[in-house]
Amino acid sequence: MAGRTTSRAAVFVLLAGWCAVVAFLVQLIVFGDHVNVFVTGAVNFFSQFLPAVACCLAAAGARGRRSEAFLVAGGVMAYSIGNLLLSVLTANDAYVPFPSISDAAYLLFYPAVMAALLIGMAREHRRIRASVAWDTAVGALGAGTLLAVVLRPAIEQVGGNPLQIAVAVAYPLGDAVLIAGLLGIACLHGGRLPRRWLPLMAGLALFSVGDIVYSLRVSSGGYQLHTPLDAIWSFGVALVSTWAVLQAQRPARARESETGNSAALIVPALANVAALGVLLAASAGMMSRLAVVLAIVTGLAAAGRTHVAYRQLRRMAELIRQARTDDLTGLANRRALYDLATERLRRSSAATSALLLIDLDRFKGVNDGLGHHVGDRLLVQAGQRLAERLRPDDVLARLGGDEFAVIADVADAEAATELARRLRAALATPFDLEGIAVRIDASIGIALHPEHGDDIHLLLRRADVAMYRAKTTRQGQCLAAPVAEGDDGGDQLRLLQELHEALAEDQLVLHYQPKMDLRDGTVRGVEALVRWNHPTRGLLYPDAFLAAATDAGLMDRLTETVLRLALDQAYRWREAGHALTVAVNLSAHSLQDTTLPVRVATQLRERGLPGSAVQIEITEDALMGDRTHATAILSRLRALGVQIAIDDFGTGFSSLAYLRDLPVDELKLDRSFVAPVSTDRHAAALVASTIHLSHSLGLRMVAEGVEDDTTLGHLRREGCDQAQGYGICRPATAEALIEWLQDAPHAEVTSASMP
Ligand code: C2E
Ligand code: CA
Ligand code: CA
Repeated sequence: MAGRTTSRAAVFVLLAGWCAVVAFLVQLIVFGDHVNVFVTGAVNFFSQFLPAVACCLAAAGARGRRSEAFLVAGGVMAYSIGNLLLSVLTANDAYVPFPSISDAAYLLFYPAVMAALLIGMAREHRRIRASVAWDTAVGALGAGTLLAVVLRPAIEQVGGNPLQIAVAVAYPLGDAVLIAGLLGIACLHGGRLPRRWLPLMAGLALFSVGDIVYSLRVSSGGYQLHTPLDAIWSFGVALVSTWAVLQAQRPARARESETGNSAALIVPALANVAALGVLLAASAGMMSRLAVVLAIVTGLAAAGRTHVAYRQLRRMAELIRQARTDDLTGLANRRALYDLATERLRRSSAATSALLLIDLDRFKGVNDGLGHHVGDRLLVQAGQRLAERLRPDDVLARLGGDEFAVIADVADAEAATELARRLRAALATPFDLEGIAVRIDASIGIALHPEHGDDIHLLLRRADVAMYRAKTTRQGQCLAAPVAEGDDGGDQLRLLQELHEALAEDQLVLHYQPKMDLRDGTVRGVEALVRWNHPTRGLLYPDAFLAAATDAGLMDRLTETVLRLALDQAYRWREAGHALTVAVNLSAHSLQDTTLPVRVATQLRERGLPGSAVQIEITEDALMGDRTHATAILSRLRALGVQIAIDDFGTGFSSLAYLRDLPVDELKLDRSFVAPVSTDRHAAALVASTIHLSHSLGLRMVAEGVEDDTTLGHLRREGCDQAQGYGICRPATAEALIEWLQDAPHAEVTSASMP
């Protein structure tokens, strides 16, 4: 409270001071030589003393930066006292010795204000203050050089007396040092001085003009008291005080931003030009020795400063680059995407831009199963592949995790979808990670600008929803819904709650996909694939909820449900005369569950089913966790007559050697190897040797993802045992499957061969 009263008093006193300044000027203009010495002296005194008092009051009421405020107040007060002393000394026009006691008081102003600036800067700019010191030094040297030129007559006039030269030069030099310091500070603010600092700058500028003109006039004997020139210092003091009062009222916490930029090079550049000019003139013999020496020192200091500034700029550029780059892939990161997108969307000449949000499927499995370094390599390669498929002015960023984003100009929605298809195709070929082939799919959500929104955040949200739909509907890519439909945000969270209900209320259903024998075309086994009959969203596929179920620790319950449904169905089929083996997929987690063999045994017994009615599919990754544990569980299952298949074979460890030690009956070759088998020589060779090797280990080979007859024929010729895929039959409900079995001429159920 007291602080506020003092600050208000400071403002009033300052205003009074400004009145005195104006009155002083008016007096000098109107009365000129005929002034009343005492009245003018008094007005002159108040024109500087009142602002000085205002500074002191402001300092007393300052909410922070008190040391600076008091330094400035002390400096201004000393100046006004110097002014008083000079008035007294010149009151009766007596001879005034030079330098006099008034100079001592005046000159105190400079170190005080300089100290205040330094303290303030040290407080606000901890990191870059060295550069400001350099700028100030270089600027001051440059200014000194110029002063040595400008003030040459004055210096020569005072003759060889060093004290007199020093004092004569001290004023303009002090002004120059402060101005150079301010310029240095301006560089910290991107080359622009904050508006609050303008009064100080203007005040110092007036001081320099006054001091230089004064020095020259005195040296040429042309100086006269009581001209309007005398008011210039009063104006200067009032301006400096105005700055001090404003500064003291700023909250203590306010910080200046540190936006260094190329403006940091201006000060040394200017000083350099000045020094060079002096040296050029010196070569023509026009310069004093002092000026030449100062010019050389200035040049050296400026060179040093340029070096520092250059290093600083480079570091800044590097920091900016790092802050906008994804460390792993070297692509733009999320922050950069926001900037780039905003810029791109505003400037783009195309009518439509597309934001594609790309999410890798099954990435978590790679990370968990093969380790983070392999996951990292996959991300790097995925980023490279995406980059290769884009045009130079498209934007590609990694948003984090396994999420990438692309911004590209497109003709229309169809073109955007086509781009998404191309990008997915680029990711579909297996990645070679330290000799391990890993296949990854991607789901892409597409949002269009301006159709789906015009800022990047909104577009990202819509693309995210679309991406999620792409995953759940397995379309691969999906366009954002028209804006009117509203947002489905919060889907993931709701999904988890709903999963609990799904398990409790039997919303999970199984679809079955036949495995066809390639020698005789019969079907003896099917794979059970889980689906979620969602009450509002329709049929959901495993990609849409398995990861969530795993994260939520619901996988054991899910497996339990699937086993029950599969065995129920196996039982019904057997009742109807179809002795089909139902293969069930197990997660890695289930393989650590020692009660699993007992539970399977109980379920089989309850239905009176033989062990051969069920088969277990596990991935290679799942076996790597705790191999001994997994092996024990598999052995016990196998002892029940349950057959074991390695799923997605080839995407995990591609080593047949370890299979010798594992209780395994069947290998299911991953569809990424199967699909290109008739078009790609390498894939064909790989499939052939894998079939050969598996046979030599006594294992059955099943090809997954057979989509056409060419592939089927190829596999049959290579001696592959069984095949599964859309080309034979898509996963279907139990009823639809039986219909298919009965309709398909090549596929008969052979219940006779089953025990
Ligand atoms: P998976 O075990 O490799 O199952 C084969 C997947 O490939 C199935 O996808 C199937 O619909 C699909 N597919 C079959 N033929 C073709 C084809 O010719 N071309 C193409 N492109 N795809 C084909 P689905 O049903 O979405 O299952 C995805 C994955 O979800 C499965 O891969 C399996 O890892 C997991 N999964 C499915 N059901 C269960 C389950 O009950 N329990 C567990 N733990 N995982 C399951
Ligand atoms: Ca499977
Ligand atoms: Ca598979």
